[in-house]
Amino acid sequence: AATILYGKEIAKDIREQLAGEVEELKSKGIVPGLTVVLVGDDPASHSYVRGKARGCEEVGIRSEIILKEASISEEELVAIVEELNENPNVHGILVQLPLPAHISEKAVIGAIRSEKDVDGFHPINVGNMMIGYDSLLPCTAHGVIEMIKRTGMPMEGKHAVVIGRSNIVGKPVSYLLQKENATVTMCHSRTVDLRHYTRQADILIVAAGKAHLIGSEDIKPGAVVIDVGVNRIDSGKLVGDVRFDEAKEVAGYLTPVPGGVGPMTITMLLKNTIEAAKNLSAI
Ligand code: NAD
Repeated sequence: AATILYGKEIAKDIREQLAGEVEELKSKGIVPGLTVVLVGDDPASHSYVRGKARGCEEVGIRSEIILKEASISEEELVAIVEELNENPNVHGILVQLPLPAHISEKAVIGAIRSEKDVDGFHPINVGNMMIGYDSLLPCTAHGVIEMIKRTGMPMEGKHAVVIGRSNIVGKPVSYLLQKENATVTMCHSRTVDLRHYTRQADILIVAAGKAHLIGSEDIKPGAVVIDVGVNRIDSGKLVGDVRFDEAKEVAGYLTPVPGGVGPMTITMLLKNTIEAAKNLSAI
């Protein structure tokens, strides 16, 4: 049976380390600060933002949530971002996605000063990541890589298959896996015969947002399987994209949902905020 990769525990380890870094910054008069801008009343977004604020508190980062009604205009939202860009106490700015349909994500994310873009979604950060330059990395993708590192299995030369090609998860994960010298195959909703690819995967990253998409038949015995999906099913329960009970009989390593990738994502956000505070203070 698979070794279960409890993101929650790995995250706790890393957060202890981060708390130490925050202490050190504070001794130099720098209090890392994150501001989250949340528009509208989507319950999932509110729950994610609460998790982020709790994470900040845990490691000593000052956090603030700016709540705005869904009726806010794009200009008003951009103006808020521009004010935060200028605020020296704010090192990280995160605009929770998705935004209401009348607001362009491109315009709002593009307005964030790239040094404060702790989600790693600004085109400057995405471009730097792709070239292999230092940048603030997208949190979920970074969290996935950190979890794979914890298995102790080298990624070099391994065949990694990524399901999903979104800008938030699939694409950045594929760049970071290549940086680790894995051979990467990208699959998505138009892929014909998905199983043909997944069965070859030494490392399988599932980020489709489709409950129970992947089962034991789709997994190469011994593979590292990282389930990024978060789906609420009819019973109200949260499940991943992988059928956990079957997969754990075949995989070598497997992440649960919840308690897997989610806590790692928030931890990488905290890490980015500390990094941004250091960079902006030229430490
Ligand atoms: P998205 O909807 O933007 O992208 C989904 C991708 O999966 C698309 O590229 C699509 O082509 C592909 N896909 C959809 N159905 C497929 C199928 N049947 N076969 C193969 N590919 C398929 O979603 P996203 O923002 O990338 O998020 C993916 C999942 O990860 C969601 O469930 C989301 O909630 C979750 N998520 C979790 C975290 C976390 O921290 N745990 C963070 C971000 C996203």
